[in-house]
Amino acid sequence: MTDINRRAFIRAAGGVAALGATLGFPSLALGSARRVVVVGGGVGGSTVAKYLRKLDPTLAVTLIETKPSYTTCFMSNEVLGGERTLESITFGYDGLRRHGVDVVMDTAVGIDPVKKTVQTASGKGFDYDACVVSPGIDFKWGAIAGYNAEIAANSVPHAWNAGPQTLLLRRQIEAMPEGGRVIIVAPPDPFKCPPGPYERASQIALYCKHHKPRAKIIILDAKDAFSKQGLFIEGWTKLYGYGTDNSMIQWVGGSGGGKVESLDAAKLSIQAEIEEFKGDVVNIIPPQKAGAIAFAADLAEGDWCPVNKRTFESKRHKDIYVLGDASSAAKMPKSAYAANSQAKVAAAAIVSRFHGLEPGDPTFVNTCYSVVGEDFGISVAAVYSHDAATNSIEPIPNSGGISPAKASPEIRKREVSYAHSWFKNVINDMLE
Ligand SMILES: Cc1cc2nc3c(=O)[nH]c(=O)nc-3n(C[C@H](O)[C@H](O)[C@H](O)COP(=O)(O)OP(=O)(O)OC[C@H]3O[C@@H](n4cnc5c(N)ncnc54)[C@H](O)[C@@H]3O)c2cc1C
Repeated sequence: MTDINRRAFIRAAGGVAALGATLGFPSLALGSARRVVVVGGGVGGSTVAKYLRKLDPTLAVTLIETKPSYTTCFMSNEVLGGERTLESITFGYDGLRRHGVDVVMDTAVGIDPVKKTVQTASGKGFDYDACVVSPGIDFKWGAIAGYNAEIAANSVPHAWNAGPQTLLLRRQIEAMPEGGRVIIVAPPDPFKCPPGPYERASQIALYCKHHKPRAKIIILDAKDAFSKQGLFIEGWTKLYGYGTDNSMIQWVGGSGGGKVESLDAAKLSIQAEIEEFKGDVVNIIPPQKAGAIAFAADLAEGDWCPVNKRTFESKRHKDIYVLGDASSAAKMPKSAYAANSQAKVAAAAIVSRFHGLEPGDPTFVNTCYSVVGEDFGISVAAVYSHDAATNSIEPIPNSGGISPAKASPEIRKREVSYAHSWFKNVINDMLE
């Protein structure tokens, strides 16, 4: 980002802070406490649960989450690069409990929008006045012949939900012979974390540069362009010899035959449109859709959930809000920062409604950092406003941008520290 863009970004982002400042709702005597049930304790769900309680401490907020702790996908590529452990990106829910959120370990299996009840796998029912659903993504199995959930868990991990598969992929890269080949299959748009597959290739290259300098990483991609492409290629050229015969990273785009048709898991062989590629390690990131509860609760149209982008209330069912990756929130990307920003807008809209007020006109923020290598970070940032006429979320002109091309080593190094401090801040904002 240039200095001018950075200043404009900070000014516009101040709009978000100002929004927060207007949210000191007076505690009204509403009779029995209003109940909000939140499904999914990831970025969107945790943030909305915390901010609902902060905005109106009289609310009874229940968070239903399958797992006892949350492992962030963001920074999980650094586990592959060897910079972090999985423990360092895993967090419990005690912070939310301290905010008065009732955290329930269970899985939501249905939502009755008429009776206003969430049903769970253990057979319980949770009544709500408002329900928020932030279940993240699920995978569209069947798009690549020969690839399925079982193979992903055992031998060809997607590692696109951080956890055991991240560690499996890490172990496979460690066990790979020197001069071995890692194949990454990038998914079609839209998907969680648009720069993620390319940051992953960078982090694996970082590990290999130190431990297996003759290794190759091949990215097979159905797309002809990807997020922050120019900056990634600048980093790959500087750090990993991109564009030379000895390049550690090779990217094969859609028009070069990068679309993948099938996997032979036993041979670790991939049939792409033109050529067959054999790997020592294969990482397929499948096409994506909203998490299963979005379909069980009739919130999806096609793969994602349409919402009123002023409030994030579902366009299919009143009093149910859908946040984060599962929502159709173009032009915001599917990112943690976006889910965190949307959660605050939804919390404010829900509390406004309970207090008989009109929801405000929101602004949203997103920044995505990628760590390409040692002391080499890049970013893209934007501030967005809601266009009521088209129900779209549009970037505010001159309020963001990408890191400058050919920036000084000092700027690239600083972006790495910004990435790490953003990580601490967002965890603090959602869970502490
Ligand atoms: C490799 C990688 C790197 C990334 N890096 C970045 C980055 O640098 N910056 C960034 O902004 N974003 C990044 N992201 C994207 C980010 O992780 C997601 O966009 C973000 O987590 C979305 O938040 P969410 O609330 O929609 O879903 P999630 O955070 O995925 O949370 C969903 C939660 O819901 C729970 N759940 C699902 N269904 C149910 C159910 N029925 N009942 C109960 N619980 C349920 C799940 O267990 C999960 O805890 C990255 C993603 C990946 C894969």
